[in-house]
Amino acid sequence: MEIKEIGLYIHIPFCKHKCYYCDFVSYANKKKFFKKYVECVKKEIEKYARENRIMSEHGLEPKYVIKTIYIGGGTPSLIDEEYIEDILKSIRENFEITSNLEENYEAQDEEIKNCKEKKKEIGKEKNNQIIENDFEKQKNYNSQIETTIEVNPGTVTKEKLQKYLECGINRLSIGLQAVQDNLLKEIGRIHTFEDFQNVYKWAREVGFENINVDLMIGLPNQTLDDVKESTKKVMALKPEHISVYSLILEENTKLEDMVIKGKLELPDDEIERKMYWYVKKALEKHKYIHYEISNFARPGFESKHNSDCWNQNEYIGIGAAASSFMNNARYENTSDLEEYISNIENDKPSKNIQLQELLDDESKIDEYMMLSLRKISGVNISEFKRKFNQNPIIRYNKILEKLIKEELIEIDGNNIRLSSKGIDLANLVWEEFI
Ligand code: SF4
Repeated sequence: MEIKEIGLYIHIPFCKHKCYYCDFVSYANKKKFFKKYVECVKKEIEKYARENRIMSEHGLEPKYVIKTIYIGGGTPSLIDEEYIEDILKSIRENFEITSNLEENYEAQDEEIKNCKEKKKEIGKEKNNQIIENDFEKQKNYNSQIETTIEVNPGTVTKEKLQKYLECGINRLSIGLQAVQDNLLKEIGRIHTFEDFQNVYKWAREVGFENINVDLMIGLPNQTLDDVKESTKKVMALKPEHISVYSLILEENTKLEDMVIKGKLELPDDEIERKMYWYVKKALEKHKYIHYEISNFARPGFESKHNSDCWNQNEYIGIGAAASSFMNNARYENTSDLEEYISNIENDKPSKNIQLQELLDDESKIDEYMMLSLRKISGVNISEFKRKFNQNPIIRYNKILEKLIKEELIEIDGNNIRLSSKGIDLANLVWEEFI
């Protein structure tokens, strides 16, 4: 039977309070739906697994095996830890997990070997105790599949973190954004820097060995010095992964309204870019690898789940507003919470799913180009040829010529990648391939 490894995303669309800049599908004050929602998520998991079992037994589709799990939101840490445990239990009862497959032991050994090699390379430059420790952590980490949960300081206790670890979660993604409490308040975050420090300390105490911290730049009233302070304080904690997102002023958000009314001011583009380059250089100097436009990791700690999305691999999304990419089609569940629950409770789960896009061969290749150009290593030319049986340099001859002339991309050996200028103007580059 053919086996296909996939990622699994679970969306928990609840937040304590809506951040002023946020346009994600998340709802505040919906506590009464937590229990029902989790029941529906479990039913949706069962549905996917049941359908796949029938289809794969008849040779109509490969058997799906879960390679990564990502619980995002919203604020997954807002709901009781028992709910998260229930969801993970349901995944394991219904799907097979990659790390349990015999053939994957070999792949894990290979990954550990690669990590060892990376460690040696970096060790040559400087004897770095942190990297030594990374290797040991990486060995433990590879014995389970990457299972991430997003947490928001202000919704977490040490007991909750302990429970997460016990139920198989091995990666935490903590939304901090900035270390200045006044800035956090201005964007409607529910926590202080001290709350974050407590969560981070507890996470290490209970045994988390893979932690991501989210930072934001371009916040209202944020200065370059604020960004320097945030970066330094976060680096001092030595998380394995740091994400740095530029604030985007989304339509119909409270922040947009405040900016329009002149109540808040955003830093101009030039300062925002200075912030980005400051963070990039500081993190690289401290041995973080810049592997995607907004993401930095210590060797071996790049997010596997997100990397699979940028590599155009398949994933199933469960829950309200979750999207899936399967069999060359992108789907999205309804974002209406009550509609989502009611369709599942009435045994009509397929009514929740809407087809967003069916990718034909051509659009699949274009999308692959665009997604690969999010990665700092860019498009691997040999990999592209192997996947699509054609040369990207020939296929995109005219576009590449134009982008090279504008100094937005560079072709170096086996890779087509964003130049420094291209990193600043990445949207212009991506648009060329859509
Ligand atoms: S915690 Fe995250 S999902 Fe919730 S409102 Fe804030 S930014 Fe949006």
